[in-house]
Amino acid sequence: MTGPDATAGIETVIFNSAARLASEARARAKQNDLQEAFAPELWNAVKNLGFGGLCVPQALGGAEVSVRLFCKVVELLAAADCTTSTLVHLQGNNAYLLRYSPNRAAADALLAEIVNKQLITAYSLTEPGAGSDAAQIRATATPDGDGYRLNGTKCFSSWASMADIVLVFARITTLPPKEGISCFVVRPPQQGFAISRTEKKLGLRAAPLCEISLQDLWISRQDCLSETGLFREAMKALDYSRVGIAAMTVGLAQGAFDYAFRYVLDRRAFGQALADFQGVQFKLADMATEIEAARQLTMEAARLADAGDSFSRHASMAKYFASDVAMKATTDAVQLLGGHGYTAEHPVERMMRDAKGIQIFEGANELQRALVFRSLRRELA
Ligand SMILES: Cc1cc2nc3c(=O)[nH]c(=O)nc-3n(C[C@H](O)[C@H](O)[C@H](O)COP(=O)(O)OP(=O)(O)OC[C@H]3O[C@@H](n4cnc5c(N)ncnc54)[C@H](O)[C@@H]3O)c2cc1C
Repeated sequence: MTGPDATAGIETVIFNSAARLASEARARAKQNDLQEAFAPELWNAVKNLGFGGLCVPQALGGAEVSVRLFCKVVELLAAADCTTSTLVHLQGNNAYLLRYSPNRAAADALLAEIVNKQLITAYSLTEPGAGSDAAQIRATATPDGDGYRLNGTKCFSSWASMADIVLVFARITTLPPKEGISCFVVRPPQQGFAISRTEKKLGLRAAPLCEISLQDLWISRQDCLSETGLFREAMKALDYSRVGIAAMTVGLAQGAFDYAFRYVLDRRAFGQALADFQGVQFKLADMATEIEAARQLTMEAARLADAGDSFSRHASMAKYFASDVAMKATTDAVQLLGGHGYTAEHPVERMMRDAKGIQIFEGANELQRALVFRSLRRELA
């Protein structure tokens, strides 16, 4: 079978796999969060279901799902457990980075390997002195024989301590500063690569957030994704990533809404269900409306991306709008559960902590607003 029916069939298989993973993730989310550790069973499930290959081209063995389907998968997972959703989303993000990398031989070989060996990847761009202004990274890659020596300190790399591959950004010392940022494939354990710290953090606690020390780490030329720099390509890949992040926050908000909605139907005060108070009803109506608006904006960004149209502005709009909606919806959900919502007995306080991180990572929301303004000015001024 080929054509639309076959595509719909594959989409159903992938969506059903995601639903199974979501159910397992939901069951383990509380324990993962309290123990600040991701259950190995869940890690293996992500691998075994082939979710590392969702955004890898079919020619290289991957599923090459549409941005729209990827968003649906990420949303579904985030409604159950945002941490698991970040892991699956990260695999899509990294696949797009590799799809845009100029060193096609290295990138295609790695994409095929990711599928064949069910590898999990992380990426490491941020440094202690360079976050929002990522162009200021200082880690160096100095040519040495048939490769490069990497030195520097990276920080805030999600999942780096568990991943099979870490895509590390560093500045090639022989290129002009503006063009020199490239990305290197690291396969831990490797001499010169160390996880020097794992952060204690507010939310997404089962996802390790790592500082990385690079000390004379030698990487062959084949594992350099561009010997002429790839900052522009990396930023292009980030656009895809931001659409997925928006979908993640839609799912997170929906998960909090669904939980709070069921709760207020059951919980009684002053002789009636909380859901019978108009103030509660209005809050829930606003939450549902804002979540739907975030979903529609996200899906429009996904539609533009799938159509091959320019979608950068919509990606930024969706990322900041949807994550702000998630922050508000999860906070409202805690409020609707009262003191009970503030305890770890219910998932909404975890969801609220998780939402905060997403307003910050993959380009903080202030930076997304700046990107939207810049794009509007280019078009309208
Ligand atoms: C949970 C989590 C996971 C992460 N995972 C990864 C990962 O896997 N890999 C990776 O490389 N990085 C990762 N990061 C890093 C993340 O991308 C950075 O934290 C983010 O880009 C912000 O950088 P910063 O923390 O240095 O903040 P800063 O850049 O110091 O910004 C601080 C504040 O100033 C604001 N600000 C900065 N510039 C402007 C401006 N021009 N206008 C208005 N406001 C501005 C920011 O919006 C922010 O509110 C992660 C971070 C978190 C919290």
